[in-house]
Amino acid sequence: MKQLLTIKRELALAAHRAYQRGLQVGNGGNLSARVLGKEEMIIKPSGGSFMDCDENSWMRTDLEGNVLEGDGKPSGEALLHRTIYKCNPSANAIVHCHSTYANTVALFHDEIPTYNYHSIFKLGGFIEVLNINKPGVTPSETHLVEEIFERQPNVKAFILGRHGLVAVGKDPLEAEHNAELVEETAMVAYLTEMYGKQMGETKEPIGHDWYAEYLASKK
Ligand SMILES: [Zn+2]
Repeated sequence: MKQLLTIKRELALAAHRAYQRGLQVGNGGNLSARVLGKEEMIIKPSGGSFMDCDENSWMRTDLEGNVLEGDGKPSGEALLHRTIYKCNPSANAIVHCHSTYANTVALFHDEIPTYNYHSIFKLGGFIEVLNINKPGVTPSETHLVEEIFERQPNVKAFILGRHGLVAVGKDPLEAEHNAELVEETAMVAYLTEMYGKQMGETKEPIGHDWYAEYLASKK
């Protein structure tokens, strides 16, 4: 089993990278990792900047929310993280951040329009926007998160409307890379829509039918 210290170091590295890439400013956002083989996770406490995280910055809780280790209060979005670990066995880490382009583009769409093939393939599908009309997921909305992974079992990310992106991965760095890719995808969508206006031309994003046909052709 991967040592807890290794997971904490990987989380700190992912947090630094997300901050340095501009995915998160100030002290917002949170990230976590599953303790492999156990019904537990390691998560950033509430408050504190991604950039200041180190191997001592974390709390360990079970998937019911009981604190097992660490000081402070688990992130306000701990329920979201616990929900994902319970319903998605391939998610071993989660990065949640309030990145600019993902948040902006999500205001205007039910899913982030995807214009690049690599986004679809690396993210395992389409980036849905979950609009719950409040800042955080509460117990009555956890089923909406579960339904995203029922619709798209391989998808690596979604957006909480007016809030931020949620990316998962097999480890903290992969989750962070997926978060970067969501932001890149949203930036391309933003620029494509803006540039299209300037050019007097619109471009269609990659469609669900195309992706379904592509997957079928690979079977
Ligand atoms: Zn948040």
